[in-house]
Amino acid sequence: MTESILVLTHVDESGAALSKASLEAVTAGKELAARLSASLTIGMVGADVATAAGILASTGARQLAVTGEAFAQPRYASDAAACEALCRAAGASIVLAPSSARFTRVAAGVAHRLGGFIDTHITALGGTDTVEATRWFYRQRVEAVIARDARPWFLLLDAGTHTAFASEPTTAPVEQITAELPALRTTVSGTRAPMQDAQTIRPDAKLLFVAGAGWTKKQADGQVHSAEAGDLILGFLHATSASLGSSKSLVDQGGDGQPVLPFLTHMNQIGQTGATPRHPKGLATCCHGEEPHVVGWRFIGERRAISLDPNCGWTRGKADVVYVADAFPVMAKVNELLEAKKA
Ligand SMILES: Cc1cc2nc3c(=O)[nH]c(=O)nc-3n(C[C@H](O)[C@H](O)[C@H](O)COP(=O)(O)OP(=O)(O)OC[C@H]3O[C@@H](n4cnc5c(N)ncnc54)[C@H](O)[C@@H]3O)c2cc1C
Repeated sequence: MTESILVLTHVDESGAALSKASLEAVTAGKELAARLSASLTIGMVGADVATAAGILASTGARQLAVTGEAFAQPRYASDAAACEALCRAAGASIVLAPSSARFTRVAAGVAHRLGGFIDTHITALGGTDTVEATRWFYRQRVEAVIARDARPWFLLLDAGTHTAFASEPTTAPVEQITAELPALRTTVSGTRAPMQDAQTIRPDAKLLFVAGAGWTKKQADGQVHSAEAGDLILGFLHATSASLGSSKSLVDQGGDGQPVLPFLTHMNQIGQTGATPRHPKGLATCCHGEEPHVVGWRFIGERRAISLDPNCGWTRGKADVVYVADAFPVMAKVNELLEAKKA
């Protein structure tokens, strides 16, 4: 079967550039089209996509766009209509889209409107003359390869699994597609987001910093130093814009009436019953590196840990580098060096 591949993309908060996850989907589409010798179309959704189209010009793909004020903000009715129109115009048999909040919400509905099938959380695309999509099950323990005969086949790609497409901007023709808008019942009045400092989960950060229960345990002087621990962790996050993860023990402590770090919630938890983020590097501090926690580190590129315990899980082969040291003075020194570098 000769495939016709469509990559659905949308603009980011700036309203002009494509989101990073969209650019990752473009890379996946380019690679797949080249491997299958298939045609490649890129569909864009946003108020104005002229800048984005220039960046994509060098892909050589056919470019389609649904634009206008109605498509500036994410909203089910307008996004579903836009994606449906792009899919119909492209006549696509394979539709790749980023697993962004914006497209995850509409993709299954759009697949249904086209009589197609959808698979989500795709991490890799393989196959020499057919499409084979890979995803993980059972908290990233079982990896499955999926093939389907049904078309159109929608594949939502997990963020962080492909390199974001980048190129010098040039000009390329963009075909404007009209989307039939239903009556819009939802008006987007704006976005309310936590302050950058309050938002500690940053999926696009280069570094994951994980805090373990050791930060709030009694230290060598017999005292708990949780306020100091909080200052050191926030100081490091402030200096590096790292994403903050936690062990289960640390986030569970609040419920147990033990000292807590107020900026941590279960949303920060990494592991079997928590998140499995993707970052190039990770640093675990005051954490034991037990398997139910470390399973959440599966997609972290380079792992380092600071633990007092020379016999912890990290030293037993779970980290690339382990510093057997007291994390309090180590992180104080690291923060001092980061501050000096900034000054
Ligand atoms: C079904 C199930 C699911 C689970 N899911 C998860 C999960 O999703 N995520 C998760 O994290 N856990 C999970 N767990 C729990 C997991 O097994 C561990 O209990 C937990 O990860 C331990 O957290 P911790 O390493 O922070 O704490 P601890 O085991 O208390 O370790 C604290 C570490 O800090 C070190 N330390 C103390 N002070 C310092 C200092 N000053 N400097 C350096 N090091 C210091 C200590 O030496 C120790 O190694 C699960 C368990 C089960 C049974």
